[in-house]
Amino acid sequence: MAQETIFSKIIRREIPADIVFQDDKVTAFRDISPQAPTHILIIPNKLIPTINDITEQDETLLGHMMIVAAKIANQEGIDESGYRLIMNCNKDAGQEVFHIHMHLLGGKNLGRLIG
Ligand code: AMP
Repeated sequence: MAQETIFSKIIRREIPADIVFQDDKVTAFRDISPQAPTHILIIPNKLIPTINDITEQDETLLGHMMIVAAKIANQEGIDESGYRLIMNCNKDAGQEVFHIHMHLLGGKNLGRLIG
């Protein structure tokens, strides 16, 4: 069994978070340590520890995360100016929370992906 993280508590609203969107499949909330004017995390309600644990059964869920990200970017007013979606996997990517999450970053020029 995968170990729950703090994100499961956010999904169940057991700890405070600035939730901007939630449905039966995903939850989106503002990052506690924002790296850009808009920094939102989109996560599946189901616990999947890393990208390596995604299965074909999760195909629709992952597509839904992307659709929700685009809708939130529109709500935030950054869809036309642009934004970046990032998912980190394991140590070399700096993954800290082992519940997959898509970072939605925007609201400024984000520069090159790898500096
Ligand atoms: P990663 O390095 O891809 O695993 O990103 C984890 C992200 O989760 C970081 O950007 C953290 O700032 C963010 N984070 C950790 N705990 C919380 C929390 N309680 N509420 C919101 N964001 C969080």
